[in-house]
Amino acid sequence: YSDNAFPPFEYLDAATGKHVGLDMDILAAIAEDQGFAYEMQNVGFDPAMGAVESGQADGMIAGMTITEERKAKYDFSDGYFVDGQIMAVAADSTIASLEDLRGQNVAAKIGTMSTQYVESIKDEYNLTISYFEDSPTMYAAVVQGNSVACFEDRAVVGWAIESNGIALKTVGDVIEPREYGFAVKKGENPELIEMFNAGLQNLKDSGAYDELLAKYGY
Ligand code: GLN
Repeated sequence: YSDNAFPPFEYLDAATGKHVGLDMDILAAIAEDQGFAYEMQNVGFDPAMGAVESGQADGMIAGMTITEERKAKYDFSDGYFVDGQIMAVAADSTIASLEDLRGQNVAAKIGTMSTQYVESIKDEYNLTISYFEDSPTMYAAVVQGNSVACFEDRAVVGWAIESNGIALKTVGDVIEPREYGFAVKKGENPELIEMFNAGLQNLKDSGAYDELLAKYGY
């Protein structure tokens, strides 16, 4: 399972009606290398985590940050990308620091590091939080002025601004960049993690991984 709208990692290609992106390409290349078949459902980030936890899905790849906290529930593959969250505000906003958020409403995406971060600074900056199911609705809340800021993985909000013309801008530095991993339910499907890691290594060794990164501008 995966997220539904998290470019460049997974997003709907309007022309084909299919989800494309770096995560989709990586998994496809690994499956081909390792000789396994799979079905992909792009249900959204929090629903994908729920599907893995309930055993409905065998695994997820969704720009998912590997954290100690999540390791209580999931086993992760080796990391395949590094990113962290960054503040984004409306393109014409005067907000330039965390201090400027004091007493304001901030948007966060359910189940993600964005929620974890905003909740971690909520009391210090006296924030109220509006929660959204996916990245596009979170951005819309900020563009429309219902929330003054959101926090999102830098590569993803950067893509939204540069490639999708979303009227946001980033503020400050990336917060604690960490690795993304493929995840399975803790203790389940160890063979899937082994195949993912073996395939990833093969893609790196052959240069195919760098080609995939380059396809998305990395
Ligand atoms: N990297 C972030 C996380 O793991 C966001 C993932 C996402 O929204 N797809 O929480």
